[in-house]
Amino acid sequence: MSSFSNYNFHGQKALVRVDFNVPLDEHFNITDDTRMRATIPTIKKILGDGGKVILMSHFGRPKGGPEDKYSLKHLVKHLYGLLNADGHEPATNVFFADDCIGEQAYITASMLRNGEVLLLENLRFYKEEEKGDTGFAEKLSKLGDVYVNDAFGTAHRAHASTAVIAQFFPADKKMFGLLMEGEVMSAEKVLHQSEKPFTAIIGGAKVSDKILIIENLLEKATDIIIGGGMAYTFMKARGGKIGNSLCEDDRLQTALDILEKAKQKNVSIHLPEDSVLADKFDANANTNISPSDAIPDGWMGLDIGPKAIGIFSEVIKKSKTILWNGPMGVFEMEKFQAGTKSVALAVADATASGAFSLVGGGDSVAAVNQFNLADKVSYVSTGGGAMLEYFEGKVLPGIAAIQNA
Ligand code: AMP
Repeated sequence: MSSFSNYNFHGQKALVRVDFNVPLDEHFNITDDTRMRATIPTIKKILGDGGKVILMSHFGRPKGGPEDKYSLKHLVKHLYGLLNADGHEPATNVFFADDCIGEQAYITASMLRNGEVLLLENLRFYKEEEKGDTGFAEKLSKLGDVYVNDAFGTAHRAHASTAVIAQFFPADKKMFGLLMEGEVMSAEKVLHQSEKPFTAIIGGAKVSDKILIIENLLEKATDIIIGGGMAYTFMKARGGKIGNSLCEDDRLQTALDILEKAKQKNVSIHLPEDSVLADKFDANANTNISPSDAIPDGWMGLDIGPKAIGIFSEVIKKSKTILWNGPMGVFEMEKFQAGTKSVALAVADATASGAFSLVGGGDSVAAVNQFNLADKVSYVSTGGGAMLEYFEGKVLPGIAAIQNA
């Protein structure tokens, strides 16, 4: 693989896999363009070198053929705006090809001039994309001289454009883009070069979604903080009373196994000593506080309590490496957001004192954004599913296809 930053793209057609799977409203307005913005530095570096950029992406879930509502043509104007926001002259041209392979795509790609951009139509209009079809990947590969993967969000999928395509480029003509490079470097730093103490903060609704990540982290972390709805399955497994709190009864044994394994491996597991209770799952519910293993009938734990906040914050502030995935409570409701907010502040404090902190997974990212702390942590990952699988210890096809070349 080549280093993106050191590569000179002058005169080269760079075929860049991006994740432009942004949400649209019913009038085709983009309601959150984070994913598009995230990849602009990669595009600008190529254009700045005097290269040509050919962008390919998936968009929504079409049923295997063209559908207007899933056409990437709806994004062209916005992309033009993002690339020309600084008002530079001459403006960067953005063209659109209404197919991602075939004659028109090839002709448009070959006619691009240095400094121009072509956006190809949705890759998922071909079912071959998700099947990882080699023939389809080879056709795509013909569009560019160099392959750049900047789509971390789909790195855990062995799709034609994210993994299979890499085999059609020599080792020095395939590389990660800046976004993907940042994601991979941050994730590797946490998983393979972590300075100790290393605290993993795992929250969210379900134990079943997080078992693999916890098991893998038992091999790496010194401390694991468990909060959110999943904590109550652990509480019940240890014989506690959890009222109406979330619980996965079929995971009680799993929870006990995790606690036992942690003991053997000398990893400290921190469960919330107390909880903020609600008498119903509602933003206006009556609230109370109790020990997390003595929740009265008719009440449910919707956030970690003040004692838990104190203990968790201490552990976090002593850490040198922090990984955070999943909220501590129902942070979408104001009454139950103190736990998640306090944890976010503790992560920010630790980062200010020199810790490396990585926040990933949809809801914890939403939380740091909501509390305006995104720039106070070391790295905010854009890839929810991909990041989870990486920390579960799985090989991500999109990373392997480039790293192992
Ligand atoms: P996940 O997608 O598994 O990370 O879960 C995130 C969701 O878990 C968020 O929508 C939270 O509102 C929810 N959640 C966190 N804590 C609790 C809790 N104690 N009870 C119910 N839901 C929770």
